[in-house]
Amino acid sequence: MFSKLYLELERELRYNKRAAEAVENKIHRLFIEYSGREGVERLKIMDFCGTHEWSITYYGLRSLMPRGLELVAGPGCPVCVVPSHYIEEAIKLSFEGVVVYAYGDVYKLRAKRSVKGAFSLSEARSLGADVRVVQDVLSAARDASSHGKPSVFIAVGFETAAPAYAWAILRDHLPGNLKLLSLVKLTPPAMFYSLEVSREKPTEPPISGVIAPGHVSTITGAKAWVPVAENYGIPVVVSGFEPLDVLVSILEILRQLVAGRAEVVIEYKRSVSWHGDVKAQSAVNRVFEVVDDAWRGIGFLPKSGLRIRDNYRRHDAIAEYGVRELKPGMWEKDMPPGCRCAEVVLGKAYPTHCPLFMKSCTPLKPIGPCMVSIEGTCAIWARYGSREFLDELAREIGEAS
Ligand code: SF4
Repeated sequence: MFSKLYLELERELRYNKRAAEAVENKIHRLFIEYSGREGVERLKIMDFCGTHEWSITYYGLRSLMPRGLELVAGPGCPVCVVPSHYIEEAIKLSFEGVVVYAYGDVYKLRAKRSVKGAFSLSEARSLGADVRVVQDVLSAARDASSHGKPSVFIAVGFETAAPAYAWAILRDHLPGNLKLLSLVKLTPPAMFYSLEVSREKPTEPPISGVIAPGHVSTITGAKAWVPVAENYGIPVVVSGFEPLDVLVSILEILRQLVAGRAEVVIEYKRSVSWHGDVKAQSAVNRVFEVVDDAWRGIGFLPKSGLRIRDNYRRHDAIAEYGVRELKPGMWEKDMPPGCRCAEVVLGKAYPTHCPLFMKSCTPLKPIGPCMVSIEGTCAIWARYGSREFLDELAREIGEAS
């Protein structure tokens, strides 16, 4: 399995192999220099975005890191952090005769509590509710206008998804019978929170650098991460998603650590600018207001969600159907029993630390939210493995070094 991952990496990097080797060697040299000078044995870098975690795991990049340099995933999977409460509300709507549109991973997401026997929208559908899987909001709009029944689209995503929802409203693409349930989240507050909690446990090294999300930054601009570098004094590199992008970003973080700098650098220059997509930002600001919002397993984070403004409430499922908003007083831990997803999304645990991983919780039968979406860390590790997973297997079969 290990050699298969390496072959995949080689295939992907066949034009860049020498560059990748040079970067890998420099990463090792700089890590030795930094850890020797600072007297640290372990160093954590957070890859915030689910797609970065996918690249790192799929291409086996952890296996190229020096021992002691850990790449930990962050809360960058928008499906993983949808509170159970809103899945329950959507299931309820579906049983009340509303056609519910959802992305494929939201469709499979399990709530903590069942509603009329259904823990997920897929189970609601199997019990007779009209739940439809779509790939985007415009597909839902076309379908809803063809039947005219009361309908709701569950609008999940980060800053990257928000402009499509905003333009669907501003350009009048939504039929009157289709409302949006906006569960869009903003990523910087979650990054701040991840960095805070990484400092809580004195026995664990704090996060010393961040690989910032490339797609989100295309919209927000790299400037969104300046408070991370300034307030936490750590390097932030906005990275692309090819394996070489990620390796170069890790190298840049180490360069800055060795030089004692903490800056925001754009590695993903072919897509990201400093100020981002100003038109998209303005469309989002017109349609949505920023609210304190709940993240599954984490709780309420200030100014971390988007809700539809009053001017556009005719498109808002919350206004139309009285969907109950989750309030801080109602917050309770909303993970299924035994699931450690709340720690996984904060980089405090690896999927292999969860006793349910690949036992009762698998991609085919997910229990926790991180096992559902292709951007969920548990789902990625389940499909493509990791050095920790391989080490564990090696120990089990007595091949550990
Ligand atoms: S393996 Fe499943 S149950 Fe365990 S943390 Fe991941 S999603 Fe949760």
